[in-house]
Amino acid sequence: MALLDIYTYPDPVLLQVAKPVTTFDDTLRRLLDDMAETMYVAPGVGLAAPQVGVSLRAIVVDASTRDPNSHLLKLVNPEIIFSEGRSVCEEGCLSVPGYTAEVARPAHIRVEARDEYGKPVTIDTDTFLATVIQHEIDHLNGILFIEHLGRLRRDLVKKKLKKQARQEKSPKKKAVVA
Ligand SMILES: [Zn+2]
Repeated sequence: MALLDIYTYPDPVLLQVAKPVTTFDDTLRRLLDDMAETMYVAPGVGLAAPQVGVSLRAIVVDASTRDPNSHLLKLVNPEIIFSEGRSVCEEGCLSVPGYTAEVARPAHIRVEARDEYGKPVTIDTDTFLATVIQHEIDHLNGILFIEHLGRLRRDLVKKKLKKQARQEKSPKKKAVVA
């Protein structure tokens, strides 16, 4: 396994719609393993492939720090097929370093996905895991959590982040934050 570089806003890979996975091979499984390792070291509770520069619909999540029944999930081509309610949660993102904000999302979701071997899986959750999965699926659609904020606040954060990125010599090669 290997640690991957985490891409940060405004890298274009974070702003595009990721492609569905069509081949469930060792390359995909290695990517998911490396993403999981990178997520744990960061540390984070979820990571989407575009965050490591790969524009594919694959995510890893582990909400066990706040949800004892949770464990590591590797979800490929995840799709929300049902959602209801409303839950507000303080969110942060490894691709938007140093910033957190309250985001409102549906509280209960049902997700259909494939596992790393292509086997169908269904996740039904109304806990913290629901928030994490929605945050990661947003990444697959080129949406960062700051897009859920009011326009004024969002524009301010984006401006700050762009300035920060300009000040770094090579944002793509930014080391994983431990
Ligand atoms: Zn994120």
